Amino acid sequence: MNASSMPGTVMPLSGTLALRPVEQLVLQGTSFCNINCTYCDLSEESRRTKSRMPPELALKLVSELIGTDLLAREFAVVWHSGEPLTLPPTYYTAMIDAITDLCARRAPHVSVSFDIQTNGTLIDDAWCDFFERHARVIRLGVSCDGPPALHDAFRIDRRGKSTFERTLQGMNALDARGIKYNVIAVVTRKTMADPQSFLEFFHARRASLADFHFNVLASPVAGMDDLTYAETDRAAFQRFYRRVFDWWEEKRLEGSALPIRNVSQTLERIATVGRADAPSFISETSAPLRSLNMDTKGNVTTFYAGLDIATQADRYGDGNGLALGNIQQTALAQMLQSTKLTVMLGDFARSHHRCAQTCDYYAVCPGGFELIQWLDQAGSHCDAPETTECIIHVKALTDAALDFIESADRSRTEYR
Ligand code: SF4
Repeated sequence: MNASSMPGTVMPLSGTLALRPVEQLVLQGTSFCNINCTYCDLSEESRRTKSRMPPELALKLVSELIGTDLLAREFAVVWHSGEPLTLPPTYYTAMIDAITDLCARRAPHVSVSFDIQTNGTLIDDAWCDFFERHARVIRLGVSCDGPPALHDAFRIDRRGKSTFERTLQGMNALDARGIKYNVIAVVTRKTMADPQSFLEFFHARRASLADFHFNVLASPVAGMDDLTYAETDRAAFQRFYRRVFDWWEEKRLEGSALPIRNVSQTLERIATVGRADAPSFISETSAPLRSLNMDTKGNVTTFYAGLDIATQADRYGDGNGLALGNIQQTALAQMLQSTKLTVMLGDFARSHHRCAQTCDYYAVCPGGFELIQWLDQAGSHCDAPETTECIIHVKALTDAALDFIESADRSRTEYR
C-alpha cells in the first residue's frame, strides 16, 4: 500500500475560503529572549530588543473581535514568539484577568483559555505560584530537545553556553509542585542519529507530561549541516519516523505509553481517509482567521499560527508580508474588508485546489506547506506543488505510518 492507493486521496476543493471564527490568538508579549537558539526564526535584533506588548493593544483586538462577532466558542490566547517568562507574572495575571473579564461581560458564551510556550529556563517558585493560581485556565508548554547532547547542540545562550541544566531545573521545579506541562522538541540530524536517547529521555519524564510533540524545522537552515535537509533525505526521515512509530508501540504494549502527538495525529488522519465526513486538514490549518497573530507592535497576521510580518514581506507589494494591518492604525473590520485579504484568500484557495488536483497525499496533508511553495516559487504563485518540505514533513511521515500499519497487518482504524 502507498499513499496514492489510499481511497479518496484526491478530493475536490469544497467551496471557497470563508472567514472563520478565531479559535486561537497568538500574542507576542515580548520579542525578547534570554537565550539564543541557533534555529530560532525570529530576527537577532528582535530577540535582543526588550519589548512588551501594551495590554491595551491586546484588549483592543479582543474587543474588536467581540464587536465583529468573530470569537469561537472555545477561544485560546497563546503567548509565544520571544520568551514570555522574561516579562513578570504580574503582566500575565493582569492580561488574563482583563481578557477574561472582557469576554465575560461582552461575550459570555465564549470560554477563554490561555497558553504559554517557554524555554523553561526562568521557571522558579514565583512562576510555579502563578501557574498554580491559574491552573484552571492555563496550559504550559516547555521547549526541550532531549538529553544534553541533543538539547545543547542548538539551544544555547548568548555566550554559546549550554541551557540544558536551566531548562531541566525549570521542569524539575514544575515536577516538584505537581504542575503538568506539554513538551515541544525540535528534531535535527543529531536526533535522527540517536532516536533512542531522544525518546527515552522524554519517556522517563512521562508522568510529568500532559503532551509530547516533536517538530522537524519548518524549513532547512542553509549552511548548517545538522539543520538542513533535502529531497534526497526522504528515506532517512522515513526510517526515523518509522523508528518513532515502532518505539511508541513497544512502550504502549509494555504498558508504559508516551503519548506522541505526531503519531496519534498521523494515524488519525490516515484513519479518516475515504470517510464522507473527513475534513480537509490542509484547508483547516490555514483557514482564514481561525488562528490570528499579533506582534508587540500591533501587526496582525492570519492563516498560520505564529506567522511573522517579515515572512514573504514583499509578496503583496506593501512590505508587510501576510499582515492584514496594524491594530493601532486600522480597525479590524476594515482589515477584513481589504483588497489585500481578498487577494490572499484567492491565493490560498488556488494553492489548495492545486494540491487537491495533483498531490496523492492531499487527504492526509496537515497543511502549512503551501506557504512554503510560495517561497520556493518566489512570486510564480506556486505552480510546482511538491516542495522539499512536502517530502520531508508530509510524504516521508505518511509513508512511515503506512509501513507501520502494514507491518503487522493492522487496520487503519485500529489506533483511533
Ligand atoms: S502541501 Fe505538499 S504535501 Fe501537502 S497536499 Fe500540497 S503538495 Fe501535497
